[in-house]
Amino acid sequence: MQRSYVIKPELGKEYPRVSHGKGIYLYDTSGKRYIDGCSGAVTASIGHGVEEIAEAMAEQARKVSFAYRSHFSSEAVEELGAKLAEWAPGELNWSFFVNSGSEATETAQKIAIQYWQEQGRPSKTRMISRWMSYHGITMGALSMSGHVLRRKRFVPLLADYPAISPPYPYRRPDGMSLEQYARLCADELETAILRVGPEQVAAFIAEPVIGASGGAVVPPDGYFQRIREICDKYDVLFIADEVMTGVGRTGEKFGIDHWGVKPDLITLGKGMSAGYTPMAAAMATEKIIDTITRGSGLIMAGHTYSANPQSAAVSLAVLRYVEAHNLVEKAAVQGAYLLRKLRELADESPLIGEARGLGLLCGLEFVKDKRTKEPFPLSRGVAARVISRAFENGLLVYPATGGLEGVAGDSVILSPPLTITTEEIDELVDLLKKSVQRVQEEMRQ
Ligand code: PLP
Repeated sequence: MQRSYVIKPELGKEYPRVSHGKGIYLYDTSGKRYIDGCSGAVTASIGHGVEEIAEAMAEQARKVSFAYRSHFSSEAVEELGAKLAEWAPGELNWSFFVNSGSEATETAQKIAIQYWQEQGRPSKTRMISRWMSYHGITMGALSMSGHVLRRKRFVPLLADYPAISPPYPYRRPDGMSLEQYARLCADELETAILRVGPEQVAAFIAEPVIGASGGAVVPPDGYFQRIREICDKYDVLFIADEVMTGVGRTGEKFGIDHWGVKPDLITLGKGMSAGYTPMAAAMATEKIIDTITRGSGLIMAGHTYSANPQSAAVSLAVLRYVEAHNLVEKAAVQGAYLLRKLRELADESPLIGEARGLGLLCGLEFVKDKRTKEPFPLSRGVAARVISRAFENGLLVYPATGGLEGVAGDSVILSPPLTITTEEIDELVDLLKKSVQRVQEEMRQ
């Protein structure tokens, strides 16, 4: 192979070259086929090689791909904004378009801070988030993230934001009901706000279902309802980070819809354009945008490619595809089937402590001892082994180990395209089973 000049995730490692994709499958240039069991980075949610999207892409490119947002709006961007307003809960009618999930969470953070400034409350600048969370890789987004592995080299440069415990039902105190546990975890937010002082806190940010740092950890009912009450009590905005959970992934349009809670801001990315173009958004309520409009009238955020017509047209075509093919409903049905199969696998396997998930966002947590739930030391790299064995077997699986050594096990995510059929799920689980069994044998040696 010719010499590479590309900086890859693992320097020095050779990666196969992708050739093409169709539906849930990706093919490399040697002809090997892979099931995209995690939609890449929980992104390719309508599957690969969809003709309608290629058409929409070409049609927009023939008209105009780029016009700077300070000069023009466009039909594509206006229609995308209207579609998201139609989809989003409550009064979340306004979208600020960016290019990645990290930019979306940073933008939401800035909008939250600005909202309080415009009302003469400039001290409300701090964010509260949770351990076991991931909100992005840029410094502002990383400051809000509880992903220890990604933070640890940069801690001195990160903003000092307080973090609370996430609800993690698998590891809740023995004998505690889910209802009590939901209340206990949510009430930590009140304690954190009171410690910092409500006049310092702009917003609380949380993923409706914990993704990259925990492996599809679903909160108990009542948790987000209580979070909403606490935020309202202390004038703290609630940001639902839906970069992974949004656009149907969990079997509702937005993850937070499962609990009927209305956030003040929502962030989107990944499935919003399903991998066909970089596209993300920070959505805000009428109240927030009215306040800023009556104040300075300018939101201090944005990037060169923000709201470009090309990406907007692609994202709009993706949302229309999701609607036309009932993919939100399909994610709920197929997700329930996948989870049932994963639970059967967990029952058989001494390595899997829990199979969990919501819709087509599922996770497996690996443990050393199923009875005591003792996690493996991270140095054993169990999740990484499963991922590489699966890759060899032609199955792509996503890592979800946040690096909370001794506190959480290492986990993986299974999140295939929302178009996946029952037969394809069977095929996916067979390959996964084979891969986990292989790692079980290796761990015994
Ligand atoms: N927020 C959540 C919930 C995510 O899962 C991710 C990425 O995994 C991000 C933000 C960051 O998105 P990006 O990698 O597009 O910057």
